[in-house]
Amino acid sequence: MTAEEIRKKYLEYFEARGHKVIPRAQLVPQDDPTTLFTGSGMQPLVPYLLGQKHPDGNRLVDSQTCFRAEDMDEVGDNRHTTFFEMLGNWSLGDYYKKEQLAWVWELYTKQFGLDPNRLYATCFIGDELTGVPKDTESAELWQANFKQADIDAKVVDFEPGKDLLADKDNRIFYYDAGSNWWSREGAPVNMRDGEPGGPDSEIFYDFGTKHNPDFGKFCHPNCDCGRFGEIGNSVFMAYRKTGGKFEPLPKPNVDFGGGLERISAAVNNDSDIFKISLIKPIVDRLEELSHKKYDAHKQSMRVVADHLRAGVFLAVDGVVPSNKQQGYVLRRLLRRTIRYAFELGIEQDLCEKVADIIIDLYQTDFPEVAEQKQAVLDVFAREERIFRQTLRNGLREFEKALELSGVFEEIEGKKEYKIGGDFLFKLYDTYGFPLELSLEEAYTRGINVSQDWQTDFERLMSEQRQRSQTASVGMFKGGLADHSPEVVKLHTTTHLMYQALKNVLGDGIVQRGSNITAERTRFDFSYPEKVTREQLDEVEKIVNEQIEKDLPVSWKEEKTNEAFKKGASGAFGDKYGDSVKVYTIGDQDKPFSREICGGPHVEHTGVIGEGGKKFKITKEEASSAGVRRIKAILE
Ligand SMILES: [Zn+2]
Ligand SMILES: [Zn+2]
Repeated sequence: MTAEEIRKKYLEYFEARGHKVIPRAQLVPQDDPTTLFTGSGMQPLVPYLLGQKHPDGNRLVDSQTCFRAEDMDEVGDNRHTTFFEMLGNWSLGDYYKKEQLAWVWELYTKQFGLDPNRLYATCFIGDELTGVPKDTESAELWQANFKQADIDAKVVDFEPGKDLLADKDNRIFYYDAGSNWWSREGAPVNMRDGEPGGPDSEIFYDFGTKHNPDFGKFCHPNCDCGRFGEIGNSVFMAYRKTGGKFEPLPKPNVDFGGGLERISAAVNNDSDIFKISLIKPIVDRLEELSHKKYDAHKQSMRVVADHLRAGVFLAVDGVVPSNKQQGYVLRRLLRRTIRYAFELGIEQDLCEKVADIIIDLYQTDFPEVAEQKQAVLDVFAREERIFRQTLRNGLREFEKALELSGVFEEIEGKKEYKIGGDFLFKLYDTYGFPLELSLEEAYTRGINVSQDWQTDFERLMSEQRQRSQTASVGMFKGGLADHSPEVVKLHTTTHLMYQALKNVLGDGIVQRGSNITAERTRFDFSYPEKVTREQLDEVEKIVNEQIEKDLPVSWKEEKTNEAFKKGASGAFGDKYGDSVKVYTIGDQDKPFSREICGGPHVEHTGVIGEGGKKFKITKEEASSAGVRRIKAILE
């Protein structure tokens, strides 16, 4: 079944059940100045979910195009995209859980033909703090669904340290608010009085691929390793927060969203969403234009395919490349596209030749795409011309920079150049000249490139990234450079180190700052004198012991004063709200470390030591008066 057929079946299925099919909202929100793009199916419907009357009634269905600029750098694997379609159906105070979960099941197993044996469901575990009960009703409805396929589905509470998939009957998983709660302000405890929220219930498809232990010891439906794909989420907007507690809403809503591309991948039983019918023709065209194979050039082709899909819809919705807001995002998308295509050897008319295919794929179901066809192609052609001119200017700069760099030897009266990572970085950073082009240029001119150019280039690149992040966010979020597995491992390690430092130097030390990249953690703390090598050795030993013990890592929302009373560590000068997230490493009763922190962390300390890695302190120095700075790595 094609993605187009899935979209059609979905809309028809709900239309037959009294839903009005509404047109998609544009990617640029019309009357919401707070956000640049429509990033989810529910976003345009929020006013109606909050009580405003919808002109088309209280049962609605649509397929909403969505764009998430923040995911741009993640595109390249088999499942991340910036652009996607979200199938959605809504009950505005009309039907509820019983109908919704039965319909999802029927639609997915009977209409889309998904194998019930590969399906899993998740429900909300409840929240003690605010008194929201466990969503047993949804779990029971899922059990009844599975029963129809002769599956006796067991319901279990998710626990990070347990191999819950070992029992094949475990099909329905309870998770906490991090996974199964919706409100505009996140977890129940973070919600303001008067805000609506509620539990949600997701459906997952098991692609059966191997679990990747970088994401935790054991796999489970919400694991990010790629084995499970989330293909639908029913939000039950059931409560309103009043006086810190939750009251049931008299007429609760249902808000369902399912990613069309992911559902299509599940229907194909192939986790690569770039092989679905709405994307494969783009990839085919790229193979044709580049004379290269997708299998050998997945990353580049995925970036080009995703970015141009997004670009087409942004342009259809009236965005024009510029240096501001939405226009800047479109410009960035197109420039990235051209750069990646350059790697594939596609040197001209890329946008037009590929955008054409994309427009063909959508113009029947979205007439506005057909209407805007020529305008979109013109915009793309102009932007591509401008950028290719920039690239040519870059070539001239290459020339000049080469002369200026002065890095050459006179050999038999001839200048022999040798360039390194700093030279390549400068061209990239200052003139926007792509690295691949610089290398290509060096190669064709017979210029030597130093052996370790890559190390230098990457170091400068990561420094640059840190500078720009620091500039744009104002500071590091929790001191983390990103959420890569390396950074997350070092983050948990930093918590271990903080506690170990307290064990060795005394409880009086206080964290004064931290900064974690994929390569190392840097930690500042108050202490009046130099820490000796013996003391550092002791800290190393303690941390490595905790890694070997494979302690569980867990977190809980707690009232801020309670958390401090129970001895949780915080960072000096940090301001905390009424409640905080507290991360515990080790046993809940006798933890090794308790720290106020936003996460993320590994689920088990053993993950840190994978591949025989050991914690090592590489440097100890003064940072300012009375503050010491430690740098440490995993090696
Ligand atoms: Zn997994
Ligand atoms: Zn932390």
